[in-house]
Amino acid sequence: MADYLISGGTGYVPDDGLTAPQLFANADGLTYNDFLILPGFIDFIADEVDLTSALTRKITLKTPLISSPMDTVTEADMAIAMAKFEQGFITDPVVLSPSHTVGDVLEAKIRHGFSGIPITETGAMGSKLVGIVTSRDIDFLAEKDHTTLLREVMTPRNELVVAPAGVTLKEANEILQRSKKGKLPIVNNHDELVAIIARTDLKKNRDYPLASKDSHKQLLCGAAVGTREDDKYRLDLLTQAGADVIVLDSSQGNSVYQIAMVHYIKQKYPHLQVIGGNVVTAAQAKNLIDAGVDGLRVGMGCGSICITQEVMACGRPQGTAVYKVAEYARRFGVPVIADGGIQTVGHVVKALALGASTVMMGSLLAATTEAPGEYFFSDGVRLKKYRGMGSLDAMEKSSSSQKRYFSEGDKVKIAQGVSGSIQDKGSIQKFVPYLIAGIQHGCQDIGARSLSVLRSMMYSGELKFEKRTMSAQIEGGVHGLHSYEKRLY
Ligand code: IMP
Repeated sequence: MADYLISGGTGYVPDDGLTAPQLFANADGLTYNDFLILPGFIDFIADEVDLTSALTRKITLKTPLISSPMDTVTEADMAIAMAKFEQGFITDPVVLSPSHTVGDVLEAKIRHGFSGIPITETGAMGSKLVGIVTSRDIDFLAEKDHTTLLREVMTPRNELVVAPAGVTLKEANEILQRSKKGKLPIVNNHDELVAIIARTDLKKNRDYPLASKDSHKQLLCGAAVGTREDDKYRLDLLTQAGADVIVLDSSQGNSVYQIAMVHYIKQKYPHLQVIGGNVVTAAQAKNLIDAGVDGLRVGMGCGSICITQEVMACGRPQGTAVYKVAEYARRFGVPVIADGGIQTVGHVVKALALGASTVMMGSLLAATTEAPGEYFFSDGVRLKKYRGMGSLDAMEKSSSSQKRYFSEGDKVKIAQGVSGSIQDKGSIQKFVPYLIAGIQHGCQDIGARSLSVLRSMMYSGELKFEKRTMSAQIEGGVHGLHSYEKRLY
């Protein structure tokens, strides 16, 4: 005690807490609740913490958050909202011709949710621009007027503000802002329509500076495929649709199938980023890194809907899995996704502090407005369905989920997940900003100005951890109250 109670100034400070190698030194598998991070020194504000992090060798995200490729979590609405829909040139908008009718516009509005439609001579892109139809052109028309031709109601070409092909996105944005119109058509020097820009997207761009985009200002999007023959067709379609990264979706990624698929993709589409997985050991990771993956997805049996560890006897507590795989993969510059078991924003911080570059979430994003499926009520509580992709429910509906669990063609299907429900969480437009601010505050308490600083503090041994006994975990939760309300944001 006496050695460090030196009065009046700096002096010897004893070693306190455990470095990451010490935390994982013995054979016990640890998960997020089994340890804490000791606080550091704060000399910056939380808002300044830079959350930029690598998804793969070549793709960097501005926030380390990914939604899980599960049929009750991610479809287009979730993907767009997670990527923070950002404006760019729309090169394949809905286009109609002057001889289409008001009814066609209304139908397009129902299907696509907007009504500012450019009109070209032939009704296709690349044809001469002759006008535009907006809701203001048609909203006073009576029911029977649905057969009215668009040439009678459209705003004609000579009243339109357009921009020339070759205009930069910035210039086009400025023209759109000055024109106060909803849409800006872009035309070539034959006055043929080549793209449009939408004002609503422009506003979103202002509101979502964290959007992750590729070099064409398109949002980044990843998609999952399996490792069988027919997945090669899905792969072709996904690359044609502009996917930036492919996730090989398997509960146990260390297989001849996955290695062959990595080789196939790398040979056919050398520039496509490929994430392999799932893995939980360095030995599994080695095979996939040797095969050429650009990122690894880590987790087996830790998902909230998962019964893999119970049924298959295989898996690993997620804290240990993330640390061991990330520690190995970093030598090859391969980033790691901590996939599954994230229940709180604190778990996100812990996963990142153990070396993960990003986290993948299922249950945390399920039952948000943007998750697929309808809300329903049970005992007065508003719920949405959330199910494991290895649940019988999901496997009966989809052959791709059977492949993820190697069960296609099996006479007896072995469920590796359950199907359940989660209470309404509202929109991720509110929830994700909460996660982002929470991670920034966690990093501030630790004394890390950025996620790369956080990881280097961990690997240098500066970051200190401590195990939590069961009673310490109880102490760390709310306790001793008669009743309370837990509002998080
Ligand atoms: P959560 O965030 O804890 O809900 O976990 C989501 C993760 O669980 C997914 O990203 C998958 O890796 C994994 N997962 C999805 N479906 C199943 C299943 O049926 N069994 C086991 N794991 C699953």
